[in-house]
Amino acid sequence: MKVAIAGGTGFIGSALTNALLERGDEVWVITRSPRKITGGETREKLHGVTWDECAAQPGKLQGVEAVVNLAGETINQRWTAGAKKRIVDSRLFAAREIARLAERLEPRPHTVINSSGVSIYGTSETETFDEDSPAVESDFLSRVAVRWEEAAGAIPAGRVIRLRTGVVLGRGGAFPLMALPYRLFAGGRIGSGRQWMSWIHIEDMVRLILHCLDTPGIAGPVNATSPEPVTNDRFGRALAKAMGRPHWLPVPAAAMKALLGEMSTLLLDGQRVIPRKALETGFRFRFPDIQSAVHNLVGR
Ligand code: NDP
Repeated sequence: MKVAIAGGTGFIGSALTNALLERGDEVWVITRSPRKITGGETREKLHGVTWDECAAQPGKLQGVEAVVNLAGETINQRWTAGAKKRIVDSRLFAAREIARLAERLEPRPHTVINSSGVSIYGTSETETFDEDSPAVESDFLSRVAVRWEEAAGAIPAGRVIRLRTGVVLGRGGAFPLMALPYRLFAGGRIGSGRQWMSWIHIEDMVRLILHCLDTPGIAGPVNATSPEPVTNDRFGRALAKAMGRPHWLPVPAAAMKALLGEMSTLLLDGQRVIPRKALETGFRFRFPDIQSAVHNLVGR
């Protein structure tokens, strides 16, 4: 299959690129800087293309059957007014450019997978959400997800999948930072510890994207989360156990708010999200529970 990946240089995108190349697919990475795309043995099927080239010469991507959009300014930075604007604008830009590209390709891609976040369900300590739960606009991140999905909805393709992703646990991304206090023997719950974390191991994330690409019946929202979300306290205990470290030093919510400002909501609030569609379409998680995932990542 010929697949274009916007944001294919990032944490999830580079793992997906490798998985597609390994199974013999051709990958076109849409990027701001093609220099980031490195050579290698299986790389003759890997190409880089800039957003400007996509707009000026869409023919370069002739024959692309599927597009995966993972591009967007990182949310792991202090949410100043400027950062918030970049977080929103970069996502709207990517979705709109992909819509423009798809419109100009003949035939159009049969599948577009657009990343989104579980933040679209809002936050709750008591409710459980699946793909039928309504989208809400209750805070900055939920508003980002709603606008992102609206922009993706305008992409003309056979089917558009909106991948509502939880925290992706891997050797890159946010996990090394989450593990750091435990490395320093200073791990503990954050805030009340009762806030939910819906998560997915990077290997399952990549496998789920491939499953969506390969299963023609899947369309619309798909939750990219493991079947066993955990509270912050349970996550900390699992991590401590896997690392052979104590789970003892709580971080008060007020300290997180003082340190991170509005962005502290990433750690202090959450949602319990179930991957109903993945399970119903026969996807088998390699890391369904948090113990197996963290054991795999800390290598004990
Ligand atoms: P990364 O930050 O690792 O990669 C995102 C990619 O987007 C970058 O490689 C970059 O590609 C491109 N990008 C970054 N900033 C901009 C910008 N200002 N304008 C245009 N493009 C930009 O993200 P992840 O791989 O971790 O995540 C992929 C997507 O999934 C993101 O949109 C993220 O919000 C979403 N997601 C991720 C989760 C996670 O836990 N990782 C959880 C929930 C959602 P280049 O430099 O090549 O242009």
